[in-house]
Parts: sequence; C-alpha cells; structure tokens
Amino acid sequence: MNHVGIGYDVHRLVEGRKLILGGVDLHYEKGLEGHSDADVLMHAVCDAIFGALGEGDIGRFFPNSDPRWHNAPSKVFLHEAARLVELRGGRIVNVDATVVAQAPKIGPHVPAMKSNLSQALGLNPQRIGVKATTNEGLGFLGRGEGIAALAVASVELPQ
Ligand code: MG
Repeated sequence: MNHVGIGYDVHRLVEGRKLILGGVDLHYEKGLEGHSDADVLMHAVCDAIFGALGEGDIGRFFPNSDPRWHNAPSKVFLHEAARLVELRGGRIVNVDATVVAQAPKIGPHVPAMKSNLSQALGLNPQRIGVKATTNEGLGFLGRGEGIAALAVASVELPQ
C-alpha cells in the first residue's frame, strides 16, 4: 500500500546562528533559531515521513525539552525516520520538498542538500526533490524573518 505524508516547518532567522539547510551550511549573516540545528528542510521531510506512517510529528520523537537534541544535526532525525519505515517493513518511494526563503539563494546548494538527504535516508537522490522559492517579498517570510519548508513523502507499507 502506498501512503503519503505531508510536512511543514518554519523557524525564525536570528543573528549568531549558522544557517543550516538540508545539512548544508549556507554561510549567511543569520541562522535559524531552534533547539537542534533548526534545519527546516530536514524537519519538514521528517514530518512528511512520520505523517506517511501515521506517527504524528518530529516533536513527539525528538522533544525540544530533551538535552540530547540540543544543537543536534537534523540528519539524525531523518535517519531515525527512515529506520522507523524499515521497522514497519516499508520503504520510502520518494520525498519532495520546497524551501521558502527570501534570501539567501538556495539553488546553488540544492545538489549538496539532495546528497545529504540521500545519505541520511539511505535513498537514491533521484527519489529526492528539493526546490526553492522566495515569498515574493510578502509576509514574514518575504521580510526575511524566517525560513519555511514544505515536504511530501510517499512510503510503501505492507498494509
Ligand atoms: Mg523544526
């Protein structure tokens, strides 16, 4: 049976933090605030996979009250999501994600992001989509107050 899941995440852009997206350090003047490395792209993909499993969200598995996840690289969360799929006897068919960021430019980093997602999930990069868009200057995303990501995942499960 094919299951799909959806994921959405947003983090605030602040000074004094690294901007990590899809496991890539973008060397930007601001970074995303959060308990872990605040990688919105990986978090959205993670939620999409958990969603396809009917398992709630990333906060349920990795609560931000747990010091183990303080500044944790989010690939750990993705790896765990992929492990859960395997435990259920399933396999990830594909994931697709869109990053919404007014700045910096995401496009040049997409291949590296895909490669990182591929490694964390144990999934062929051809099964991973990463896209980016600005928010056309509109709203909090358009003003560069934060960065958001949306993702879907398709997971084949025995039932
Ligand atoms: Mg998050």
